[in-house]
Amino acid sequence: MLWKPMTHGEDLFLLLHERVHHAFAGRELASDLGFLISSDDFMDYMKMSASIEFFMRCVRDARLVLSRTQGSTPVSLAESVGMLIDLPPGLSRERRFQELLWHVAENNGRRNASEELQREVMLKLRSICYMCGRQVSKGGKFGHAVRTIEHIWPHTFGGETVPANLLPACETCNRRKGHAFSWTTGPVLSTLVHANEKINNELRMSLGLAKVAHQASKGNKLKTLKEAILLCQPVSYQPELAVDQHHFYFELLPQVRA
Ligand SMILES: [Zn+2]
Repeated sequence: MLWKPMTHGEDLFLLLHERVHHAFAGRELASDLGFLISSDDFMDYMKMSASIEFFMRCVRDARLVLSRTQGSTPVSLAESVGMLIDLPPGLSRERRFQELLWHVAENNGRRNASEELQREVMLKLRSICYMCGRQVSKGGKFGHAVRTIEHIWPHTFGGETVPANLLPACETCNRRKGHAFSWTTGPVLSTLVHANEKINNELRMSLGLAKVAHQASKGNKLKTLKEAILLCQPVSYQPELAVDQHHFYFELLPQVRA
């Protein structure tokens, strides 16, 4: 497992990631690319990208089924999704998958944290945006950025409004992050960067989330995303770039583990 899940969305994602992991097991695909990038990094990236796509297809189709059929049950929902997408053998009959898919597709719980919940979340936390590190305060007083309470695992993808999935973030970062799972968009968006250029936010977030994922699985006990974030916030990561040289995503990745 990659981290300790705290919401149904993460649970479903990690279950599907495990399936993707098995599908990749024993493949030699990456070893031929050793001249280009570390084969482990490449495999991790492939698995993560495939898992995210797989997860999003499952959620999309489950929502579609729920909106069209009345009286669905977790069992019938998983069966219908299995008819729309090619699921790995037996998956649609697994109880855990059925229940998680149901929870995520049906997650229409409250998106905004109540005042009381916000106070609970903020207890013992520094008032900074976990992504960019700027000072935040309610309503943006004292020249600080406006504080919002952000879902670490996106609400749209089964991230419930519970303290373990909430952290303060400034309005700008919250809006920018949207529903993105930024750690996979980095390699696509950052063809190359140069020390003289401004490094785009997607790349900084992508490297930052790779850092969080590394932090969460480091050591002998898995951490939750929130625990990992609190150990290495702000998440947004500014890589060190050698002057007058171009850098590629996979060349920058080892920095986040240092
Ligand atoms: Zn921010």
